[in-house]
Amino acid sequence: MSNTRPNYLLSMLSMKCPHCRRGDMFKTKNAYTNLKKTFEMHEHCPVCGQKYELETGFWFGTGYVSYALAVAFSVATLIAYWVIFGMSWEDNSVFIWLGLNGVLLVVLQPWLMRISRVIYLYFFVYYDESTAELPDK
Ligand SMILES: [Zn+2]
Repeated sequence: MSNTRPNYLLSMLSMKCPHCRRGDMFKTKNAYTNLKKTFEMHEHCPVCGQKYELETGFWFGTGYVSYALAVAFSVATLIAYWVIFGMSWEDNSVFIWLGLNGVLLVVLQPWLMRISRVIYLYFFVYYDESTAELPDK
């Protein structure tokens, strides 16, 4: 057991509870192992008991986070494609990028939707030092 505050970004990326940064938010670690269970979350944090769905319909707001992430991702792939392969209106490069970006977005969707829930919950729930005393589960 350590009393150092777990890193904000690492806790977010490993999808830990925002309150104690140690309990898992999702029942399965990997978003891809079982797609039917991708969104199965613990109702409360297994370590500190933080409720995850703060109110009915809480996860509705994750749509905005997911949208922002998808746009940011598309801009990033556009720039990467432009720098690596170059882009011009005179060939099909724009459509190749569009297709590639679409496929990547579909493949990344389970992870994107999970991380959107995590980021959204991190807006509302802050780290609490006192949870460092709680035993790991
Ligand atoms: Zn917790």
